[in-house]
Amino acid sequence: MYVGRFAPTPSGPLHFGSIVTAIASFLDAKSNQGKWLVKIDDIDQPRIRKGAELQILNSLEKLGLIWDGDVIHQSERKEHYQSYVNDLKEKGLLYNCRCTRKTVNGSSATGADGSIYNGTCREKYYKEEQGASLRIRVVDKTISIADDIQGAISQNLSSEIGDFIVKRSDNIFSYQLSVAVDNHLDNITHIVRGYDLLNSLPRQYYLHEVMGFNFPKSSHIPIVTLKGRKLSKGYGDSASIQNCERLVWINALTFLGQPTKDYELIMNIDEIISQAIINWSAKRVMRCSEKEIDGHIHK
Ligand SMILES: [Zn+2]
Repeated sequence: MYVGRFAPTPSGPLHFGSIVTAIASFLDAKSNQGKWLVKIDDIDQPRIRKGAELQILNSLEKLGLIWDGDVIHQSERKEHYQSYVNDLKEKGLLYNCRCTRKTVNGSSATGADGSIYNGTCREKYYKEEQGASLRIRVVDKTISIADDIQGAISQNLSSEIGDFIVKRSDNIFSYQLSVAVDNHLDNITHIVRGYDLLNSLPRQYYLHEVMGFNFPKSSHIPIVTLKGRKLSKGYGDSASIQNCERLVWINALTFLGQPTKDYELIMNIDEIISQAIINWSAKRVMRCSEKEIDGHIHK
């Protein structure tokens, strides 16, 4: 059975870009008679803003994006993450790294996602201690994945990323580790999310492989830009959803390349959603990293 999800970080209200992602993942799940879960990525506590989760869930409800089952919280899964970290340790795949961000940046070439870790601590066998991060050994092998929207992507973790962090020096489990464990715990079969996460897909693939998990299919949709820059919570780009849910839906469907001429003015949200589920095709989503929207969407 198809299981998909939307996984917002509660660092602020949803902006139009995150709504587009939510709608795409919802439609992909529902058009496949699948389940659509909502998972709150609240493990990175310093980024969490009080009240944001409720605001996000209210926005989803107003848009008719009703999730299946209970809302999942990463903050309640720390024991799971730790137990998989322990397994990886037993397999000899992890090591303690004492490098700071500064020393890593200063001594490494730039790769697919910032500085490539050059393996300084790989053979040092440091004991676990406060202030050390845990890295996973990667292998010199090209990982190739076919994304349903963006097509074939290839990455060699060894030459383009380096051994990457699974648990940070502040004891927070990394995004890569937590999302891989979540995919497994939630039986996720399809990932639909923003293009900005595409280059982390091979790291997640690798983690699925070493932990023995099934790897989901993926679709990475273009990032919404306005006047040449990415929308972000920090810039206060939150879409005003109250009383303009229909407009948000139609704008999102237009962005996703879906036909919108059917949506007459009289259609209410439920009717728009039913029609959008019938019309949905990931193939209509433009294959690009980012796409500009008109200013009028922005409220
Ligand atoms: Zn190091």
